[in-house]
Amino acid sequence: MYTAEERGELLMFGGVGPLHALPSGIGTYHLIGSFGPNFGKVLDDYDLLTRSLDMCEQAGYGAGTCPSLRALLGSMMVGGFDSSDGKKTKIDFHLETALCQPQAQSAQIVAERHNAPFFLIEIPPTEKQSAFLIMQMNDFIEWLEKVTGRKYDDEKLITAVNNEWEVRVLWSRLCEQQKVVPAPLKLASLYSFMNLMWRSGRHRPETVEFYRLALDEVRHFVEEGIAAVSTERCRLMHEGSLTWYDSIITKYPERWGAVFTGSEMCFGSQGAWEVEENGCWKVAPTIGELGLEMRNRDEALAVLAKLYLQYAPGNQGFALLDRRIRNRTTIAKDWHIDGLVTNNDRACRGACLGNTETVISVKQEGIPAVSYDGACIDPRDFDDIAYKSQIETFLETTLGLTALYD
Ligand code: SF4
Repeated sequence: MYTAEERGELLMFGGVGPLHALPSGIGTYHLIGSFGPNFGKVLDDYDLLTRSLDMCEQAGYGAGTCPSLRALLGSMMVGGFDSSDGKKTKIDFHLETALCQPQAQSAQIVAERHNAPFFLIEIPPTEKQSAFLIMQMNDFIEWLEKVTGRKYDDEKLITAVNNEWEVRVLWSRLCEQQKVVPAPLKLASLYSFMNLMWRSGRHRPETVEFYRLALDEVRHFVEEGIAAVSTERCRLMHEGSLTWYDSIITKYPERWGAVFTGSEMCFGSQGAWEVEENGCWKVAPTIGELGLEMRNRDEALAVLAKLYLQYAPGNQGFALLDRRIRNRTTIAKDWHIDGLVTNNDRACRGACLGNTETVISVKQEGIPAVSYDGACIDPRDFDDIAYKSQIETFLETTLGLTALYD
């Protein structure tokens, strides 16, 4: 990434939602992600993390501000975008997609700070707005050619759209394996697997290859009856962001044999799904199965818009609350969930939106639920003793489990 410029390649800054295939027509670009190179380093170091959050607060971004923004600004304030050996990082362009409103606002603040050309695309909620999305994508291509001084190649776009669709379908097939009891993966492992899409992008052939191999491996686990947690006897679903720093949230319930096996956010944010009339999620067909043709830019952009507007129900949840609640309730039933746990992070208005309504909805389906007050970016704002107590009561009193070990 840091040597991209030497190879004549580009560096793009952008959140986890961007249409990864879209910039590919300009040539090889590397995704610096939504948080910059110092983000992981900051999260691994408690002192550095709290120092960066303090600096954010002094700059006016307090505890009620979007956690992504605070994480990003904080990591910028303590280290900028430079590599660990101090090499300056030049960002060629910044593409952000507005799924969550605070995300769009955050992106604008960050763009001003890192001084790179910035473009924001609004992802509308339904396929009815397909023409609006395609118009924005065409505007972006025109803009990208201007700011990079390079010619956009439609063949590269077509290849990238094929890859992105393929990766999303592979991810959904992998998540589908989580319906099996016992689950082959824990939720935390799923998020680790997801990282390649965030960091490398869904548009690359290497990413397609990685998820093909990952799916084969997970299917092998299922065939052999290999469980993520051998004592699994209770399946939990988590909604609202998990903490981005190391915490006890996913590990603690395992002493009761309770395992976090999935979430709408995990399955939906990177997958491709078809939502049936009854609300159930089915893995989306591939481009080939749908018989879609891509012979030019217009057709490729139409296919990309279809992927984001027709087969990405997780995106819709940010704008259409009823869909999010229905999606989560359906997933809880179809993935054989015994209990829902939600994080009501007061600062995250995007991922936590609808948590209370979801709790009501899953309870109506006979699935118990519990909520805790988490803080996905600030460990000082998370009371782990209160969390332990809530989980213990939920698992022992509501779900009738006894601890397997102390
Ligand atoms: S989902 Fe939460 S953390 Fe992410 S951009 Fe939206 S408000 Fe910020």
